[in-house]
Amino acid sequence: MTRSYVGRFAPSPTGKLHFGSLVAALASYLDAKANDGLWLVRMENLDPPREETGAADSILRSLEAHQLYWDESILWQSSRIPAYQQALEKLQTYLYECNCIRQRIRELGGRYDNYCRKHIPTSTPTATRIRIDVLDEAKQQKVESFSDLFLGPQNWPLANIGDFILKRKDGLFAYQLAVAVDDHHQGITHVVRGLDLLDSTSRQRYLLSLFNAPLPNYGHTPLALGADGDKLSKQTQAKPLDNNQAENNLINALTFLNHPPPKEIKQTQCRDLLNWAIQNWQRSRVPKQSYLAPTENNTQ
Ligand code: GLU
Repeated sequence: MTRSYVGRFAPSPTGKLHFGSLVAALASYLDAKANDGLWLVRMENLDPPREETGAADSILRSLEAHQLYWDESILWQSSRIPAYQQALEKLQTYLYECNCIRQRIRELGGRYDNYCRKHIPTSTPTATRIRIDVLDEAKQQKVESFSDLFLGPQNWPLANIGDFILKRKDGLFAYQLAVAVDDHHQGITHVVRGLDLLDSTSRQRYLLSLFNAPLPNYGHTPLALGADGDKLSKQTQAKPLDNNQAENNLINALTFLNHPPPKEIKQTQCRDLLNWAIQNWQRSRVPKQSYLAPTENNTQ
């Protein structure tokens, strides 16, 4: 049986859960539960150099402290290497090796000019790139244009991105490949995540389309910004959530998502707050732009 709603939260264990990641987790949880769906957690531990010891466990304990309980067992990306390898082999005819350096791509304005399609690298290491132009026009159109659950109509042409990397020079599988393979594998129907990933969406839809997999719905939620105007992130040492303040954290995150609980609900426990939020969740109320996190949840 295929479920009509399977959602997921997919943290990378690069640090502890902070206010910004709570907002993303909560939005995906509420959207799933308000639609009678499953909510899965996938641990994206595919990039050991960026990971922090103990972070995965700490993220899971934090979710539990906020009563954000996941359905089914956690999928750890580190256990999925053979699946990524197999996917890469399936796409073989569209792939090529590339030894261009980041600086060159930066100088091009971030869009790769597909140089190594024609100039076969003679030096190593190389990354593996996929061509972005192998679908017929109708399919490509379907990949690039979609209606975001919160933002409405979107159009993200792959030509503006250029051929992208599926396997990095250091031999690690790229985020784009792993996410597409796993969203398909887990039967994800709704991807709800932060706005910073909006420009990855057409890449992932493209790969799913090459796998002949159904394309999920996508919804991108506002990012919580620090005082410097940048996204709160584990990399910028965003303040970890205090699990002893779980109710407060949920109230702040619900308010950030423009679902402030009424006074009587504010005095209740996590479970009641979440139940209220599930009953009152409205996609149209979710802000379309990122903005400042409440001060107490800002960077240290
Ligand atoms: N692992 C990614 C992150 O923590 C999110 C992936 C996704 O939601 O697609 O930024």
